[in-house]
Amino acid sequence: MSVLVCGGAGYIGSHVVSELKELKYDIVVIDNLEYGHRESINVDHFYEGDIGDKNLLDKVFSNHKIDTVFHLCAYIEVGESVSNPSKYYNNNLSKPLTLLDSMVKHNVPNFVFSSTAAVYGEPEGVPLKEDMRKCPTSPYGDSKLALEKILAWYSKAYSFNYVALRYFNASGAHPNGHIGESHDPESHLIPLVLSVALGKRDNIKIFGDDYPTPDGTCLRDYVHVCDLALAHIKAMEYLKNGGESISCNLGNGAGFSVKEIIDLSREITGHSIPSLIEKKRDGDSSELIADSTLANNILGWTPKITSLKYIIETAWNWHKNHPNGFNKNL
Ligand code: UDP
Repeated sequence: MSVLVCGGAGYIGSHVVSELKELKYDIVVIDNLEYGHRESINVDHFYEGDIGDKNLLDKVFSNHKIDTVFHLCAYIEVGESVSNPSKYYNNNLSKPLTLLDSMVKHNVPNFVFSSTAAVYGEPEGVPLKEDMRKCPTSPYGDSKLALEKILAWYSKAYSFNYVALRYFNASGAHPNGHIGESHDPESHLIPLVLSVALGKRDNIKIFGDDYPTPDGTCLRDYVHVCDLALAHIKAMEYLKNGGESISCNLGNGAGFSVKEIIDLSREITGHSIPSLIEKKRDGDSSELIADSTLANNILGWTPKITSLKYIIETAWNWHKNHPNGFNKNL
């Protein structure tokens, strides 16, 4: 049996592929390379294309005996989703429906979905448990929550089970130094902070310093991308062993502020990293911190990397050695 990784050439996808390769799985990747990088993965079966393309999916599911699909292709920028919701609902909701229908048509039973902490919106309390109020504050979070709801109905109606992994803040890079975060344009905090240390930007803009948090900047739960990759393997094994459909949080359970990330990055890089206070970014929640007990109990997952310093060090190692990410021509 083979596994299909949709979005396998992206940041988290490439780390999932790397883990699957270590475990000797037969891997098929679909990626349209809009944001992904072909160089980030080394697989025998690569299809450049889109999960919204029914004919491509028919071909892939006919050519390979696939029992598990990982779906990691989505647009991910909270702020952009507020200004351009159409882009987000079309890509993050409508295209995965084509993928799900194709899975049902070809009797593919297991689905591992990249969901997000953004499904909760402004939290009713932290740490967040899966059954707490979900009221997304951006079309990005809303598109992910909508797909989770669709998955629940598909799972009731068809021979199909899923695990929705609600990632908190994916960060860091593979300790082997070969793969890491390479978004263009970049919108995420840690790579932007490190790009200031590399002299590629003059300063880092802090989006709001009057949130109801200890230093006024947003708190996030940063979880290493390799730990997220391991959770995908655990989720697949769980489904293959007959596990029922579930959604679970993946985080370290500790919140760090934007200012703390900048301070720690100054220490790691030895650069002053100038910062400026800017207005709040649309769609941001003040704090997102995970309770990942369910992932531990049900999937047997617990993060191995709990040190924020180590997370940023692996990111720094990647960015320092690949200042243009996978884009060699910049
Ligand atoms: N952030 C910031 N400046 C930036 C980018 C991000 O202050 O240039 C803040 C953002 O408002 C949020 C946190 O950093 O509170 C993490 O944002 P990121 O985009 O990395 O991840 P998200 O939490 O949106 O998934």
